[in-house]
Amino acid sequence: MLSIKNLSKTFSSAGEPVHVLRGVDLDLRAGERVALTGESGSGKSTLLHLIAGLDAADGGTIRLEDIEVTALSDAGRARLRRNRIGLVFQQFNLIPSLSVADNLAFQARIAERHDAAWTKELVERLGLGALLKRYPEQLSGGQQQRVAIGRALATKPSLLLADEPTGNLDEATAENVLALTRDLVARTGCGFLMVTHSLHLAATLDRHLTLHAGRIA
Ligand code: ATP
Ligand code: MG
Repeated sequence: MLSIKNLSKTFSSAGEPVHVLRGVDLDLRAGERVALTGESGSGKSTLLHLIAGLDAADGGTIRLEDIEVTALSDAGRARLRRNRIGLVFQQFNLIPSLSVADNLAFQARIAERHDAAWTKELVERLGLGALLKRYPEQLSGGQQQRVAIGRALATKPSLLLADEPTGNLDEATAENVLALTRDLVARTGCGFLMVTHSLHLAATLDRHLTLHAGRIA
């Protein structure tokens, strides 16, 4: 479903090249839930950004289903992000001026993939029914992240990418949010790639990979 071959990315810092990714190979099957760990600065977020088409690679290929992400134009990458990829970040990134209900439907509406029955199911499974009229500032961290996950899955993406989604949550809330996410990913059949610093949470997914020295160790 996701196939990455020999991916490389170099940044320049004060005129010096920083080789962050040096030939990353990674394959993810549909429905597979994979954790990615690695020390700070090892390039985990960079890898997620490249897969999501938020940035362009220097070399190698990323293929998601029938699409070669690394061959897309900027507009093509934006379309890919809208239609096939769900993104969740550590900072929940909800839209402060929109209610929970509107935050949930926002991305799906833009992508013209809004499905009322599916959104209703997400609301139920994520336990958001009583919160739909609230605004993000009126929610706890765990509640906000549940909304962010619902928003990311509302489009029925092929792939859910999460960058330390539980990094701002206490341990019990983190486990709860991840358990809900695991179930919903199984329900949609999408792939799930999650960056985490928690070896404990990483062990609850199907596979655990580590990024080290620019490659998957
Ligand atoms: P953390 O666990 O702290 O989030 P990470 O594994 O996600 O770390 P990245 O954010 O991918 O690490 O960064 C990898 C390296 O690339 C770091 O050395 C970082 O300084 C560098 N880097 C990332 N983005 C840029 C950029 N836009 N310009 C220059 N250097 C960058
Ligand atoms: Mg990071």
